[in-house]
Amino acid sequence: MTKWKCDNCGTVHRSNPSKCRSCGNTVLSPYHGDEGGLLDDPRMRYGLIALAVLLALLVLIAVL
Ligand SMILES: [Zn+2]
Repeated sequence: MTKWKCDNCGTVHRSNPSKCRSCGNTVLSPYHGDEGGLLDDPRMRYGLIALAVLLALLVLIAVL
């Protein structure tokens, strides 16, 4: 999930507030920190694709 970082003081907000809670600045930019969502991690994405392929193969084996 995208977080929002205050352009003025750098405070990171979980959701997009109308203004910064710390300084009241109204300009916030999308922020992708290191603690981003799991799906933002490419390794996690490949892991999920591998898991989906594995499940598809298992279903195929069960059907045949
Ligand atoms: Zn601020």
